[in-house]
Amino acid sequence: MCGIVGFMSRNTPAAGPLVSGLHRLEYRGYDSAGVALVAPDGLRVYKQTGKVAELDALLKRELSEEDRRRCTIGIAHTRWATHGLPTRENAHPHLAGGGTLALVHNGIVENYASLRAGLEKRGVQFVSQTDTEVLAHLVAHYDQGDLLAATCKALRRVEGTYGIALVSAKHPGEMIVARKGSPLVIGVGESDIVVASDVSAIVAFTRQVIYLKDGDVARITPGSVDIHSLDNAPVSREVQEVDWDIGAIEKGGYEHFMLKEIFEQPDALRNTIRGRLDPTGGTAILSGLNLSPRELAAIRRLVIIGCGTSLHAGMVGKYLFEDLADIPASPEQAAEFRYCNPIVGPDDWVIALSQSGETADTLAAVRESIRKGALVSGLCNVVGSTIAREAGRGVYLHAGPEISVASTKAFTAQVTALLMTALKLGRTRRLSREEGIRLVAEIMRIPDLISAVLERNDAIARAAEKHANANDMFFIGRGILYPTALEGALKIKEIAYVHAEGYQAAELKHGPIALLCPKTPVVALLADIPGKEKTLGNVQECRARRAPVIGLVTEGDSEAAAAVDDAITLPPTSRELAPIVSVVALQLFAYHVARLRGCEIDQPRNLAKSVTVE
Ligand code: GLU
Repeated sequence: MCGIVGFMSRNTPAAGPLVSGLHRLEYRGYDSAGVALVAPDGLRVYKQTGKVAELDALLKRELSEEDRRRCTIGIAHTRWATHGLPTRENAHPHLAGGGTLALVHNGIVENYASLRAGLEKRGVQFVSQTDTEVLAHLVAHYDQGDLLAATCKALRRVEGTYGIALVSAKHPGEMIVARKGSPLVIGVGESDIVVASDVSAIVAFTRQVIYLKDGDVARITPGSVDIHSLDNAPVSREVQEVDWDIGAIEKGGYEHFMLKEIFEQPDALRNTIRGRLDPTGGTAILSGLNLSPRELAAIRRLVIIGCGTSLHAGMVGKYLFEDLADIPASPEQAAEFRYCNPIVGPDDWVIALSQSGETADTLAAVRESIRKGALVSGLCNVVGSTIAREAGRGVYLHAGPEISVASTKAFTAQVTALLMTALKLGRTRRLSREEGIRLVAEIMRIPDLISAVLERNDAIARAAEKHANANDMFFIGRGILYPTALEGALKIKEIAYVHAEGYQAAELKHGPIALLCPKTPVVALLADIPGKEKTLGNVQECRARRAPVIGLVTEGDSEAAAAVDDAITLPPTSRELAPIVSVVALQLFAYHVARLRGCEIDQPRNLAKSVTVE
């Protein structure tokens, strides 16, 4: 779930590239880190709880100059604990074969308990509580001289998900990597090979990459990459070029990736929209959906699946599809959808939202929907990701790499992509050309509208200052702004560790209003769109309980501004764009509250960037 880096060279020392690769993966959130290097007389293994910088310091202290120079092959890992506490023993790499084999793993071995019991019966002693350790012992157990064959044999017994990399002192010029349900990419440089669970750890070395597919196992040597299937038959995978460079994953002068990504939104959204609007026909051109007008006309229902921020984008999608295309749409939390006998079939269109395209719950829901014969599309940001590939059709967000764990630009890009999809679908149904043309013009305004919100950064920071000490907050919105209230609450939970609840404005009085007091600020979404008057009524109810109200109000709306304690003004928008415009202000609000509370904004505690475990 977290990070893997591997390095293979004839003469470049591996320790430096491994550590810098781990640094590139730090954004994903992790709790411990480790490295294994192949020296001529055996493995060198270093592990540490805490940050990669501490692992680097450990290497500086304990790795001899001679070993640093002569170890040109190694694997490294950042762990996001699933099985066992984040301790040094549980950190990867895990060893087997009397310390001759080292393995790093992302994912979960679901049948680890029975595998472990079987190995223990054969006298294997375990030193960690992880599920991963069984993988190392299984491979060592099957190693009769062919490391690739042993790995295939071991992995065939595994239920669950894995991205792995392993090295062995018995096979000093080799590294084996494999994947199933957890990404693994091989970067093929001029003289060196770098593997990683995420291309961002590779682009500093090379942009020529091979994306492994589920079930692939590769043997890497200094001059070759041989890919096999789990039953050990050769397969071929093409080398592709990554279309963005290292600048896209650096902070570019911003204090945090999150702030950079919030400010990047006008450009990111320009990329999401580019070439996808037809201003004369009043529709959207989304060729990746690959749906004929006939298929579009046959759709009876939409199911939009996602988790976390993607789920909130999907909830906005419900309003867009129902309004613009007259089609019932239900947003569903992917894991709940997957495990409750989803009733979907050939007339249903399932749209899966995932920034990374690797979210395990969403992927499982995609597979189940395909199995049931539904039409399935992916809306993903990461090109070539598993959901994008398995859905086979969809819309790439083109928002650029999102490094901050808390998602920002992916949300606005998802809502924009859903809006374009709803427009396209609407135009095959009730939506007139005139309405379509109006919407195309609206969508084109999105980047400038976001810029206008970003100009209010100072005012938003001042509002955050007043409330940064609150321990509980409410976010309320109505209709299409309700999911935005949920997203505002999620952002502040994620990065500022403030307990926050998002509610439908009308629902507050049905229970949670009991919690309001002068210490519970309420953030009210009051953009001037239909429904605002009613939300203003709800604001009065909050103020009557002495809860301070921060209102996101449309510029020039003096009635709304007068109704709240602190007004943050937004540029005027249509109903369809109100969620995008409002959420940008909430992202900044959460950012400033977190900053004032001294939180680690880019790597919030307990969170990981792409959640590849179910
Ligand atoms: N399940 C493994 C563990 O808990 C791997 C976790 C990860 O993906 O980082 O160690």
